[in-house]
Amino acid sequence: MAKPALLERLKRGPLLADGAMGTMLHQSGLRLGRCFDELNLTDPHLVASIHRQYLNAGAEIIETNTFSANDFKLQQFNLQRQTIEINEAGVEIVRGVIEASGRQDVYIAGSVGPLGTWIAPIGRVTEERAYAAFRKQIATLIYSGVDALLLETFSDLNEVSIAIRAARDVRPAVPVIANFSFTRDDCTVLGDSATRVAQHLASAGVNVLGVNCSIGPAQLLRIAGVMQQVAPDLPLAILPNAGFPEQVRGRMVYPASPDYFGEYALAFAELGARIIGGCCGTTPAHIQAMREAPGRRSPPACHAGERAAPRRTERPNALRATDRARMHVARRPIRDHG
Ligand SMILES: [Zn+2]
Repeated sequence: MAKPALLERLKRGPLLADGAMGTMLHQSGLRLGRCFDELNLTDPHLVASIHRQYLNAGAEIIETNTFSANDFKLQQFNLQRQTIEINEAGVEIVRGVIEASGRQDVYIAGSVGPLGTWIAPIGRVTEERAYAAFRKQIATLIYSGVDALLLETFSDLNEVSIAIRAARDVRPAVPVIANFSFTRDDCTVLGDSATRVAQHLASAGVNVLGVNCSIGPAQLLRIAGVMQQVAPDLPLAILPNAGFPEQVRGRMVYPASPDYFGEYALAFAELGARIIGGCCGTTPAHIQAMREAPGRRSPPACHAGERAAPRRTERPNALRATDRARMHVARRPIRDHG
């Protein structure tokens, strides 16, 4: 039996999304700074193996490995002529993994990140060029068969509006999930509050609004609560990173453990979030812990900030940062992510 359309399914209860792709690719030995999206063409089996791990961990939404697959970011690697192929392959890899699993209940979310350059008037890229880049990537993802578009790690209201317009122009009814990232002061890098972001996304006509990456689960629970009050009729998505990464002996370490994510999964569900999952620094173990969370009793432990693991007796989750979340808080375009 065919699965219900994503937005119908969300009315029945929360869906579990996957975690980081870039973190896992880096753990497999790939160096930072390379183009991870290109792997859809050059090493699809590696990308598929990570999707499969998230599927086995219980994820019901798998994101395509296309976060940076737009003309602007691919141009940095001289790959802009392969934008369409990279996005097509990204969808095909996820579809292949889902079909091989026999699962009927898994959705493909086409990941779309910011362009990696500021748009006028903040930057020099014109709105027309930005629209053309988004439309090219988004049209490819839609025509390749994604169940929804996942606009993630955005911080510019104008930029996300352009992406949403491109999506609606290609297919008016495509489900659009739009997730913003926030800095330590609970504002975007451009200084917009959660209230303003939620108002903007609601008026822009997104189907699901939410938060991702940022400084970890506790912060995003707080921000998502604000967004929900502003837009109570819209489903909410929460996909935090594994806390704020710190340099430890020359490498980046994410502090939040899978158990910590499991505890917060309960809090996200209690808030009413309809899509929960992970971002930078999260692994299949985090997603599995979130999957198993409904059976747990313990409420999430509150702690100041997300810099430290909630239980100091646990070893920090020593993952190398692939995408340097500090890029998400700097006034610079985000290049790598996932
Ligand atoms: Zn992230």
